[in-house]
Amino acid sequence: MITGTLLYFLVFRNNLVFKLKGDKEIKLEVYSEYQELGIIATINDKDISDTVTVDTNLDINKLGTYEITYTLNYKEKVLSLTRKIEVVDTTAPTLTLKGDSEITLKKGSSYQELGCSALDNYDETVNDKIQVINNVNSNLEGIYEVKYNVVDNSGNMASVTRKVIVVKQEETVSEPIINNITNSMEDNEITNMYFINDGINVEGYIKDNDGNYKVSFCNTNNKCVTYNMTKKDDYYFNGNIALTNLDNGTYDVYLESKTKLRALNKQELQYRIARAKIGNKLMTFSYDNNLVSLKVEDFNYQYDIVIDPGHGGSDPGALNQFIDEKNINLIQSQYEKKRYEEHGLKVLMLREDLSYGTVMGDSSWPAVRRKAYALGYYGVVSKIVYSNHHNSSDDKSLMGWEIIVPATSNSNFLSNIYKIRDAWSNIYPVNENHTRVYTRNYNTNVIFTKNNNEQYYFTDYYAVIRLPYQLFNVNNVLFEGSYLSNLSDFDWYYKQENWKKMSEEKIKTYVTSLGIEYIAP
Ligand SMILES: [Zn+2]
Repeated sequence: MITGTLLYFLVFRNNLVFKLKGDKEIKLEVYSEYQELGIIATINDKDISDTVTVDTNLDINKLGTYEITYTLNYKEKVLSLTRKIEVVDTTAPTLTLKGDSEITLKKGSSYQELGCSALDNYDETVNDKIQVINNVNSNLEGIYEVKYNVVDNSGNMASVTRKVIVVKQEETVSEPIINNITNSMEDNEITNMYFINDGINVEGYIKDNDGNYKVSFCNTNNKCVTYNMTKKDDYYFNGNIALTNLDNGTYDVYLESKTKLRALNKQELQYRIARAKIGNKLMTFSYDNNLVSLKVEDFNYQYDIVIDPGHGGSDPGALNQFIDEKNINLIQSQYEKKRYEEHGLKVLMLREDLSYGTVMGDSSWPAVRRKAYALGYYGVVSKIVYSNHHNSSDDKSLMGWEIIVPATSNSNFLSNIYKIRDAWSNIYPVNENHTRVYTRNYNTNVIFTKNNNEQYYFTDYYAVIRLPYQLFNVNNVLFEGSYLSNLSDFDWYYKQENWKKMSEEKIKTYVTSLGIEYIAP
């Protein structure tokens, strides 16, 4: 068109510059504020922006697409530019549980839905959109979740869960058998306990002794099962106890020599074994007033897979300029969860959003230990457990994946790990084998050892491996997908979505190990 040519001539001859500052298309959160980004209008480097008029229909309080028009009048020629503003809602609704977030039900009683309420920043009503997923079976002891999901009109999702614990009916307690407990209980103490294949190893101390040491498990009907221990010196003993000999029931634990007294355990909480699958039983220790008790019940798996997406909340983990580790761990874990569910598997995630998620254990512990405790607690009733992480280093040249496992892992567990290791080695562009083996040694500062015998002292970063093993006999594995600190590693892994290929190898290995045919995505 002639006009166009003239304009071009005009522009060329007089070196007119008329352009937008900032992006041509902008997305803004509803109710936020639009900051005018302005334009550049110069003729032969002279600012003529005051001749530009701005016109807009933008309503920041209403979702929609708007335009800002900038019109330049120059020597009777009219030039115009537009900027597109899309007002969006990316804020998820907030969900609030009515009633407690954890409910204990007696087996056989019925679960009463207390409900949940939702508020959205933009949509007037979202309450009617709440979806409740409830798989509580109050006739079967176990830990269940009631999940509440809501999606606003812009597709922002929120979810919240309520934990429902179905417990056995209290049994009637018979008369106590042990009378005349007069000695100071401090004299009969368990100094260390850990799980072995068919039970526990116990070390203890009886001050008033005749050289013979016994540990007894007495049920509520006063029936005791007694184990002889090995004398270590004048006061100390140790020995293995096959808990598989015990019938279902609740037992008080006693130490016997000249006297028979309730066993005390005054170890720090992080060293007190909690519960484990031993044979086909679930063994749960408790320590009311430091007195040791044991509950034996039939074991049932509640999950196929428990995934711990590492970090969360105020702990971002590793990071680079594009993403925090807590986000990438979540994205990957959500993908894997969905894929397992496509195979009909039951998956529990320790967090479903960017919060720190489920924690348990002593409230004075650091968060990572509380997360590790929860991982052990749920991991014990799951066939497979793992943590998803990503690496970082001050040395920006470091790249590749790592798989960190407990040194105590059995061959069954390791065969899956080695399958994943081999598959990842084939996929990854860097030919490095990063599998590290963790060495369990929880009475001293723990050391873990790389395959190449490099040794590291570590604090509690690896609590997610240490505590599940130590307190729950659970083998966890920590997958470190790649180095976020190495941007070419990150580009290959994240931006080119090769992480999905690595996830699929994990999924294929685990699904197959559960006897299910792997379905490609
Ligand atoms: Zn991490």
